[in-house]
Amino acid sequence: MKKVTVGLCGLGTVGGGVLNVMQRNAALINARAGCEVNIVHVGARRDREGCDTSNVTLSRDIFAVLEDPKVDIIVELIGGTDVARDLVLKAIANGKHVVTANKALIAHHGAEIFAAAAEKQVAVAYEAAVAGGIPIIKALRDGLVANRIEWLAGIINGTTNFILTEMSTKGSAFADVLKEAQRLGYAEADPTFDVEGIDAAHKLVILASIAFGMPLEIKKIYTEGITNITQEDIRSASELGYSIKHLGIARETEKGVELRVNPTLVPDDSLMAQVSGAKNAVMVMGDAVGSTLYNGAGAGGEPTASAVIADIVDVARAISHDKTKYEHHLPVPYMGFVPSAIKARHILPIDEVQSAYYLRVVVMDKPGVMSAVTQLLSNAGVSIEAIIQKEPQRGSTQVSIVLITNVVQEKAINSVIVDIETKDFVVEKVVKLRVETLGT
Ligand code: NAP
Repeated sequence: MKKVTVGLCGLGTVGGGVLNVMQRNAALINARAGCEVNIVHVGARRDREGCDTSNVTLSRDIFAVLEDPKVDIIVELIGGTDVARDLVLKAIANGKHVVTANKALIAHHGAEIFAAAAEKQVAVAYEAAVAGGIPIIKALRDGLVANRIEWLAGIINGTTNFILTEMSTKGSAFADVLKEAQRLGYAEADPTFDVEGIDAAHKLVILASIAFGMPLEIKKIYTEGITNITQEDIRSASELGYSIKHLGIARETEKGVELRVNPTLVPDDSLMAQVSGAKNAVMVMGDAVGSTLYNGAGAGGEPTASAVIADIVDVARAISHDKTKYEHHLPVPYMGFVPSAIKARHILPIDEVQSAYYLRVVVMDKPGVMSAVTQLLSNAGVSIEAIIQKEPQRGSTQVSIVLITNVVQEKAINSVIVDIETKDFVVEKVVKLRVETLGT
């Protein structure tokens, strides 16, 4: 059997998973790869409990792995964008193929990395960068290759899905659930990247680029986190038959591409509403296939290792016969389209996006207020699909009017909200959330 060798940089959660699964399933993986794939060199600043590095070269300086002439494929699992960028570009310059799970690196520096890799004719594979163990990149690049992708929508951050699920099942407040998520290891000590939607934006830009053949334009994504989601909105959405999910949405429209991460109401009977806890799911609408849903573990050592190893095997299959001729064996372009076909698109500013909306308007409990609110919406050409007026809390003089609108432009809804908020019977800022039916 031909041999392909791997150098692993970083022995954290995912790196440890990759080492263990590669060792545990070695015979199976080799039989599927058609060659012997071995980790021969590990770069790690410290040992990791539960990981056996006795049969590999171990370097405390991760950059030493790149200089090892025995290594064909470098697996970058250190995270971050600065050292990781250096590491990957040096690996490519040394003629090594690269596998990474690093979405921030691909979202910010993908163009530079793919150009360098094309120049050196080496692979850069990054399946694990989006939705952990779910093979969504392979699905978009290979399985759905025949389709014009109309839209995709995903729960692509396990931390926010865990928090929203706990808030809805246990009735706890965001801050309390966040603390619990941190205690259980679902959320980082600094949760900003997850709860503000930055991590999901990194993943969405990668998916959208592969789906539509457009450059990675991370700065153009509209990003809204989940920190303002309250129990009241979760309960009101539920009364109307909806769950609140933190979705990344990419949609091609006649006017441009929608690219946004935001809390979204989805119908309770939709598949997306059933995705609970730290699970991820991505729904893709292709013009030929219709909608397909990919669901599973979006994070964790071994689930993510599953995707990393799939990439290692892809590269190993491609290079095992002739390590100098990668491009002859694996003609899948880095971003799913040949570089000359990748075209910048107009990304719609959020004001121009069309959506249905959930509005919660807190008003003084007096006659005529509900009809005044509905009149303002009607004057602006906004129809109401569903509406409820909540009972006032005991002793309170305030009530919430909760409604779902038809699909209108964001600009239009914002302008009605400004009108509503000027009325003296309105006591709080109006809560606005977007609503998606996702083909249901
Ligand atoms: P992690 O547990 O923090 O592990 C990172 C490893 O890299 C540690 O061994 C760390 O060493 C090492 N490292 C970091 N910076 C280094 C540097 N400058 N020089 C040398 N070693 C360095 O992270 P992880 O969760 O495995 O994540 C790795 C990558 O996978 C990230 O890009 C992440 O976004 C991606 N990913 C993770 C998951 C997941 O579920 N965890 C899922 C999908 C994708 P020390 O221990 O010495 O700091």
